[in-house]
Amino acid sequence: MQSIGVIGGGQLGRMIALEAKRMGYHVIVLDPQEHSPCGQVADEQIIASYDDTEAIEDLGARTDLVTYEFENIAIASVQHLEERGYRITPASNVLRVTQDRLLEKTFVRECGIPTADFHAIDRVEDLAAAAMMVGFPAVMKTVRGGYDGKGQWRVQSLAEAKAAFSAARGVQVIFERFVPFVKELSVIATRNARDEVVTYPIAENEHDHGILAMTLAPARITQRLAARAAQIAITIGRKLGIVGTYCVELFLTQNDELLVNELAPRPHNSGHYTIDAAQCSQYEQHIRAICELPLAQPRLLANAIMMNILGTGAGDRLDGVEKLLADPSIELHMYGKKHAVAQRKMGHFTMLLDGPIDDAAIKRAKAAHKQLRWAAAN
Ligand code: AMP
Repeated sequence: MQSIGVIGGGQLGRMIALEAKRMGYHVIVLDPQEHSPCGQVADEQIIASYDDTEAIEDLGARTDLVTYEFENIAIASVQHLEERGYRITPASNVLRVTQDRLLEKTFVRECGIPTADFHAIDRVEDLAAAAMMVGFPAVMKTVRGGYDGKGQWRVQSLAEAKAAFSAARGVQVIFERFVPFVKELSVIATRNARDEVVTYPIAENEHDHGILAMTLAPARITQRLAARAAQIAITIGRKLGIVGTYCVELFLTQNDELLVNELAPRPHNSGHYTIDAAQCSQYEQHIRAICELPLAQPRLLANAIMMNILGTGAGDRLDGVEKLLADPSIELHMYGKKHAVAQRKMGHFTMLLDGPIDDAAIKRAKAAHKQLRWAAAN
């Protein structure tokens, strides 16, 4: 195996490509945007849309193996490669389940793993029955295509639910019980074709307006809970038959219940910390799995706090980097995106800790983050 194709040129593709380059692979990315974050570090970029089957086939023909960095690509693109005998991982059956919230939650339940109660909404008339069964407050989410809190509404009443459904413009929606969680957790795991699965230490996540803001690793939970969370991820990976790195997002409730919220069939934002804090990153592990190499130890070398750096719309120049990096425990990663549009993921940093993840460490990371400011370029 010498060359890897990546569909999707965002930051996850970039990090896959960086590791692949370090390991000696030739990388070709396919993305519609010229000079994409991944295109900047890959050997070549094919500029085409994700459903351009001719371009996808070209990617398949020019590489030994194709993977993808996000789940909202057309399933037909993956099937097109499979039908022509090209290797693409994860397989289309994995993508089919994970790009549809309804199939995904149903699948998780079939694995015997709990989720928040939910109800599918196809027509506005379905809302009353859903409200009866699930109750309020609830969260309504588009079944397909949503990410980072987009296509998502928190609703308190039937009137609000109807308004949300009309905002969704007639697409299928899931009506889900609002979970008053005590923590949000995620498990990054990697499975290979020999059914071996490794799990990273459980991560604890803080979101802001539906977008990940901060990850603490390892999560501040008991060993027992951590073992249960890891087992959930292993069961899901095996039942799904995924090959590669994936993520299972969980809610931890007050009575120590773990409910699966979402799956991602790819490396995940909450696993960025593994680049600096683990022996082998989630990206390298992904490459190992898809290229049929042995998996590495997912061992944590230091406790870590990862903070996302989002655009604000105030400008495209990031000030304060010098101050941030005056702290020698911080590693900065920027994604090479030109415009720091509000809420856009522009980069992240990881703070490596000598001691435990306590309030003082979290305060230090948040203060470090505050030093960064977007400003208009001169
Ligand atoms: P998702 O797109 O499903 O990952 O949701 C994004 C974020 O919205 C989650 O990480 C939670 O912070 C919040 N959220 C989503 N679903 C629920 C729920 N059922 N109850 C409470 N918070 C939720």
